[in-house]
Amino acid sequence: MKLANLDGRATVVTPEGVIDLETASGGRFPARPDSAVARIFEIRDWLAATRPAPDPTTTQAMLETDATRLGPPVTSPAQVFAVGLNYRDHSAETGLAVPDVPLVFTKFPSSLAGPAADIPLPTPTCDWEIELVVVIAEGGRDIPAQKALDHVAGCCVGQDISERTGQMAGTAPQFSLAKSHRAFSPIGPWITTLDEADPADLGLTCTLDGQTVQSGRTRDLIFDVPTLISHLSGICELTPGDLIFTGTPAGVGFSRTPARYLTTGSVLRSTIEGLGSLTNPCS
Ligand code: ZN
Repeated sequence: MKLANLDGRATVVTPEGVIDLETASGGRFPARPDSAVARIFEIRDWLAATRPAPDPTTTQAMLETDATRLGPPVTSPAQVFAVGLNYRDHSAETGLAVPDVPLVFTKFPSSLAGPAADIPLPTPTCDWEIELVVVIAEGGRDIPAQKALDHVAGCCVGQDISERTGQMAGTAPQFSLAKSHRAFSPIGPWITTLDEADPADLGLTCTLDGQTVQSGRTRDLIFDVPTLISHLSGICELTPGDLIFTGTPAGVGFSRTPARYLTTGSVLRSTIEGLGSLTNPCS
């Protein structure tokens, strides 16, 4: 199942059309996308049992071509976790050691944006990082790795846009603020449930103005999704709608010689196999 934020309303997307959850369920399910995420397993069962007719005037293919009506599938999560240096090839390109525990920071929720959002560039040193984003459906503490995926609503594509000058300023790096400027966390195009896409091995590709800059697979994560959920929930109580940006593979701009950054007018396209694409112009 694909759960989207279409025109601000919780909507199931299918090849045949879209299903507005509040309308199709006669008010049983809420219109607010974040509320639907918390009930995604119930919604999936209800869909299978009732088979409501999709509205064919808007189809999955149309939204893949033009995602401007889609907002971030979660708009106000209580917590957004992000993991640094979680692929060996990316650790190597930064010249930093592979961490022996997950390196965790936050992207503040006001930085979330939709899959077609414009990204205003606050400085000339803004960089890209394609990432698999995990969406929590059922929270909890001390979730064992073996049960972790039972707590996951699904996954989506994310970009951990990073302002490198601010990130590297000071004696200890400013990860969280430098990665939380306006629209620095586009996610989408929708949440895809795990029965349709297994996060253990998905291909990720990021292109800048049509040129491939990142290409990797989630099987190369140093700390995989169950390990991250277990680790994080051992410290923070997870809640429905929480997001985990799981890290980026090699190919970011600041590690290049010469360094390359996003520029006004450039278009960043981020694709994960089975999950869809983000297309974000920069201004
Ligand atoms: Zn990142």
